[in-house]
Amino acid sequence: MRRNGTKSPNGAKGNGRYRLFVFDLDETLWTLSDGITSVMAPPFRRTSRDRVENDHGFWVELQPGVRELFEFLKRKGGYISIASRNDPGPTLALLEALEIARYLDFPQIAWRPKERSIGRIIAQIRKRDGVSIKPEEVLFIDDWPENIPPVRRWGATAIIFGQDIQSYDELMRLLR
Ligand SMILES: [Mg+2]
Repeated sequence: MRRNGTKSPNGAKGNGRYRLFVFDLDETLWTLSDGITSVMAPPFRRTSRDRVENDHGFWVELQPGVRELFEFLKRKGGYISIASRNDPGPTLALLEALEIARYLDFPQIAWRPKERSIGRIIAQIRKRDGVSIKPEEVLFIDDWPENIPPVRRWGATAIIFGQDIQSYDELMRLLR
């Protein structure tokens, strides 16, 4: 084992192995009142630091510890992005309303397989920054178990939110 190496049962490792962190949205990065984010029609009201509501009683709330995790990953020089199967309009507006869009590079909000979205993020980063990120340098987090095996076959580490990790405090401890 490498110096400072920490390995958890789910395979997520610390010690700077990952350069790109990709999150699902619904029931992973945030929880919501009903179904999927695509039903959240603007206009939105921000009712607390981590919560946004619309006029029809729908709401979206960031999971605890997301901002702290994002600050931590940025300080370490990581890239953060999103792979979410949703309609881009309302979803990107919610990321802006919650003031987390600024942490994200090339968020992918599209009805396509997650590994294809991750591939697009990597291609955009390479084009803009000249940085090549390998699949094994990607950590992907999603609440839906069926999204995990295709991303693992593609070559990334993929973990299930709510199962492999229970909170973002826990993930931050793993990545320290
Ligand atoms: Mg989800």
